[in-house]
Amino acid sequence: MLDPFGRSIEYLRLSITDRCNLRCRYCMPEEGVPALEHGDILSYEELLRVARGCVALGIRKIRVTGGEPLVRRGVVDFIAQLAALPEAPEIVLTTNGLLLAGMAASLKAAGLTRVNVSLDTLRPERFRNLTRRDGLEQVLDGLAAAEAAGLDPVKVNAIPLKGINDDELLDFARLTLAHPWEVRFIEFMPISPDLEYGSATGIPMAEVERQLQTLGPLEPLPRRESAGPARLFRIPGARGCLGLIPSVSGHFCPECNRLRITADGRVRGCLFGNQEIDLKLVLRGGGDDAALVELLRAAICAKPEKHAIGSPEFTAPNRRMQGIGG
Ligand code: SAM
Ligand code: SF4
Repeated sequence: MLDPFGRSIEYLRLSITDRCNLRCRYCMPEEGVPALEHGDILSYEELLRVARGCVALGIRKIRVTGGEPLVRRGVVDFIAQLAALPEAPEIVLTTNGLLLAGMAASLKAAGLTRVNVSLDTLRPERFRNLTRRDGLEQVLDGLAAAEAAGLDPVKVNAIPLKGINDDELLDFARLTLAHPWEVRFIEFMPISPDLEYGSATGIPMAEVERQLQTLGPLEPLPRRESAGPARLFRIPGARGCLGLIPSVSGHFCPECNRLRITADGRVRGCLFGNQEIDLKLVLRGGGDDAALVELLRAAICAKPEKHAIGSPEFTAPNRRMQGIGG
């Protein structure tokens, strides 16, 4: 379906939980995050109904996210059900990778095609500090398991932050020498200034690119559908590739094809906005599928032309990243 600005909305980010087994300092506080009540979270049946409605409106790719999606019990069966929807949308996942090693093979068998693993440091001590938990080894095992399971390509998403992990950009890039992974650098989005690292300084992608060039001339790769807005490069001879995503400075709004649904059933047209429509009004109010599709259509029609980040009108969204799904 086209939105009022002519963008074809084909990509759904579906959050299935607000809970997480890490506490990344730029995403969540250590304590004091009241988890949604069990009854407030959409059941898998409700999520499937919503996904079916989205597919009817033209969604072709569904990214399962959270919170940490792999902590929700039954996620593998849910992914199998998503993959079996009419029109067979592509099903992908964003995870912190902590539980991936034990689940990668069954996720692949369920119909998951690809996985994005968020990882901001390759140093165990720093991982513990940044996420407030141990687990770097598990994440690295998860990446290896995803590759072995044939989830292809395995993507690693890193957010470079000034003074926090910006001395590791080349180490991340060198991962692609040995692994066929897509290592992507993503600009930090300052949407939760109340958090400990909420006002951290992200590194602009132009600076990341400048640092990467010190490894030698980077070979630009053609744009791939599955790479989204990333610009892709390869270190000559490397097995994997590098992606640069200027999420803030890149002004991607004119190409934004996304719709987001939170774990408590709110549909959002923009990551940075505050406009939401509560799908529970229909899901739990006895409405039929046609009424549900009408709410989803209304959300697409209400997609703003662009976000206001960086302008004086910008106000931080009412939810944190973990409550939206990134
Ligand atoms: N827990 C999963 C994970 O970490 O991959 C899925 C949810 S997490 C909210 C999704 C993505 O949002 C992660 O890659 C995370 O690094 C990213 N993220 C969180 N806060 C961010 C911020 N302020 N700017 C940019 N990305 C952010
Ligand atoms: Fe959890 Fe992902 Fe947020 Fe880290 S970025 S706290 S793993 S939701």
